[in-house]
Amino acid sequence: MFFAVRIRKKAAAGIAAALLLVLAALPSLGRVWAAEKDFIKWVDFDAPYVALRRALEADVRAHEEGSPVDWVDLLAYLAAKYGGDFSLYKESDLEGALERLSGGESLEELAGGLPHFAYYQEAYGAVLGGFVGEYQAEGEEGWETCYGLKAFSPIAKTFPYSDYDDFGVSREYGYRRRHLGHDMMAAVGTPVIAVESGVVEALGWNQYGGWRVGIRSFDGLRYHYYAHLRKDRPFAQGLAVGQTVMAGDVIGYVGRTGYSAKENVNGIEQSHLHYGLQIIFDESQKEGNGEIWVDVFGLCQLLRRRQSPVQRDDATKEWSRAQGYREEVPDASPAA
Ligand SMILES: [Zn+2]
Repeated sequence: MFFAVRIRKKAAAGIAAALLLVLAALPSLGRVWAAEKDFIKWVDFDAPYVALRRALEADVRAHEEGSPVDWVDLLAYLAAKYGGDFSLYKESDLEGALERLSGGESLEELAGGLPHFAYYQEAYGAVLGGFVGEYQAEGEEGWETCYGLKAFSPIAKTFPYSDYDDFGVSREYGYRRRHLGHDMMAAVGTPVIAVESGVVEALGWNQYGGWRVGIRSFDGLRYHYYAHLRKDRPFAQGLAVGQTVMAGDVIGYVGRTGYSAKENVNGIEQSHLHYGLQIIFDESQKEGNGEIWVDVFGLCQLLRRRQSPVQRDDATKEWSRAQGYREEVPDASPAA
């Protein structure tokens, strides 16, 4: 089933090569063509919930019917069509694209002629890579293989939260800077959930984030950052750097720590989870001026429909996931 999509992607690579000279002349796109390595230097990701939801539905339905349509391709097509500005989004554009694909047109025929389509395909592929795919869920009759949205909301099921699109708004602590994440207002102690599976890369105190956890996706492209966790008991018991966590696992608890050079200080008035998503094409982008953080508001709205159910151990007062989940873990991971 995936094979057909792969062949199409190979054809897209040919078109990408043809576009290479054009792209090289456009530094505004952020792609650097160095002699030895080139990588994307900037991604603006602002696909709204309505577009994400519709593209996901089309992807899952096509998967069931055995004629794969990749939601990344659909969204990259729209991004290329809109020059990256999703305020131009119209559902009829997406429906029109789906009609042409189901009428037998290839992705190249649909999108190959649009400027920068290959760039958006790679950039959006990096952002969305861990959100949709095959996984196994534990149901009443045992393990079930599923395909679809496999990532989870950062907030556990049945725990209330509120949010709005606050990406990029100005922050004052320390120095004036843009807000590079998404705040989800919730009560202290609300279980925080791993959105995507991966390896714990950072765990501890950070002046801005307070108690925070950073989890890197298995493919290395995404760094999920969860901050301002609870004073005294911020993390899930036993969580450690280098450990593999699965999507939907409890990793910590909402709090209001941070904005302090001193550890374990409640420096924030309103308790909330700061959830950030960083895209890393090259390790030089992990820290410093090259960091790429994307707006996850639309994704968090999409994930509202997929929250991890949790249960509490009365003896330890720890929360843990209440429903089993499995997905393929690459060989290089510590868990494999
Ligand atoms: Zn924040």
